[in-house]
Amino acid sequence: MSMVPSSAQVSARMAAQLRSGTAPEIALRRELHRRGRRFRVDVKLDVDGLRRRRVDVVFTRSRVAVFVDGCFWHVCPDHATTPRANRDWWAAKLAGNVRRDRDTDDRLAAAGWAVVRVWEHEATADAADRVDTALASVPGGKATGRYGCARR
Ligand SMILES: [Zn+2]
Repeated sequence: MSMVPSSAQVSARMAAQLRSGTAPEIALRRELHRRGRRFRVDVKLDVDGLRRRRVDVVFTRSRVAVFVDGCFWHVCPDHATTPRANRDWWAAKLAGNVRRDRDTDDRLAAAGWAVVRVWEHEATADAADRVDTALASVPGGKATGRYGCARR
């Protein structure tokens, strides 16, 4: 980052989220787990050009990658805003995030991954349904059962 955002609070909030996962992300993980899904979280995939990008929820065998995107950082069509202070910096920053997201999607798809992007504003059950749909459409994507184990 070449410049520091004007609001230290925004930076602190971002850093805290990067450490622990956001609330919507945690809720989705919990729901998927309840449905018998087993997965890895916060993974750096070994895909060309993606080594510095983390995926929130990964189904390794099924090759399904799930991102839970924050409405602000990933520019949700319903809730995106640009802070008034340092507006140009923010506009460039957020546009860069969107470009990187699409690039990530393209690289994953090229490597044979299915990508599910969930907005933080989506209901957890709806988001989990979309993940289930993606898993159902790939080989090896069947649920392991409520008390199933990841190792089969
Ligand atoms: Zn939103």
